[in-house]
Amino acid sequence: NLKLSEKISSISPSVTLEITAKAKQMKSEGIDVIGFGAGEPDFKTPENIRKAGIEAIKEGKTGYTAASGLKELKDAICYKLKRDNNLSYSAENIIISDGAKHSLFNALSSILNPGDEVIIPIPYWVSYPELVKLADGIPVEVNTPEENDFKYDIDILNNALTNKTKALILNSPSNPTGTIYSKDELEKISKWAIENNIFIISDEIYEKLVYDNNTHISIAQLNEDIKKQTIVINGMSKAYAMTGWRIGYAAAHKDIIKLMSNLQSHSTSNPPSMSQYASIEALRGDEKAIHEMKKHFTERRNYMVEKINSIKYLSCKSPKGAFYVMANISKLKGKTIKGKNIDSSIQLANMLLDEAHVAVVPGLAFGNDDYIRLSYATSLDNIKEGLNRIEEYIK
Ligand code: PLP
Repeated sequence: NLKLSEKISSISPSVTLEITAKAKQMKSEGIDVIGFGAGEPDFKTPENIRKAGIEAIKEGKTGYTAASGLKELKDAICYKLKRDNNLSYSAENIIISDGAKHSLFNALSSILNPGDEVIIPIPYWVSYPELVKLADGIPVEVNTPEENDFKYDIDILNNALTNKTKALILNSPSNPTGTIYSKDELEKISKWAIENNIFIISDEIYEKLVYDNNTHISIAQLNEDIKKQTIVINGMSKAYAMTGWRIGYAAAHKDIIKLMSNLQSHSTSNPPSMSQYASIEALRGDEKAIHEMKKHFTERRNYMVEKINSIKYLSCKSPKGAFYVMANISKLKGKTIKGKNIDSSIQLANMLLDEAHVAVVPGLAFGNDDYIRLSYATSLDNIKEGLNRIEEYIK
């Protein structure tokens, strides 16, 4: 009868992973399920990067590194931040962790005190509220509606502001909506954050996956004041198809990085040495493979958006970045399919999985029940087949 941690007991399991697990189970039973749940590129890590990892192992570079990461990789990250984002940092401003999720965990743990509030946009990436709670903070979830392109504006921020507000999570390009903030919008948020003394946690993990004429701008590059208050989070998973290597990083003022490094030194220590060597190649090497991946993502996105908008009762915006489409199901709610009343996104997701054999993620996982999320990190053939099944089922 020993009591377990109240804090950890309050953390919800990831709904994304639950649906993925159910779809996997069905597949293992021989059922032909089309999966739109994927949160990772369906491409292999580019060969030059894999080779660099193998070389590191062959050369025996397999021991501990500095707990906060290799100096050579920190230098490569600084080179990347200058090249891609016009941001000047030095090694003391960088910490390398076991994926961007771990970077976020360290960052929130290093800035929050019990009861501090962190503003999070709905629809949000599933882990943000739980990560804030793990760091003893209070997630303040605010609606960023589709009419607002799923973005914050100053009215939304002012409504959420209290004397406990400590930080704002900004995720551009966004998972799940694919929205991207313009320079002008970032300028306004930057001004607001400086006036109100708010940290910005800028999760830029999808920065390389932007389509059409859209560009990614880091809020930290706007001016020195906002740079001091911003923790830039990025990583290798999405841009370089390196989800399993577990490398993410943070760039921030050296006082913050120092705390994050101390925390990491007593918890996980360094991220895997061979993954760090492979990441140096990713950041400094040829980016041809990324352009190739982007071409596929663009083609799939275009198909998916057009098809979803042609299905009665469904609609979606064309995402500007990342690899997800948020399909609006509000017109479908309240309707009945085969005697079953659709009253929530979770119910629809379960019906689609059980009866149409298509796995999607219910919007409720992201805080908004009027949507389902479909990932286009799967082949065009799968996308065509899966959307046909959804169309048939809804008909
Ligand atoms: N941030 C966002 C918005 C994500 O979607 C993800 C992965 O799904 C991550 C961070 C974490 O990525 P990783 O820990 O693999 O680097």
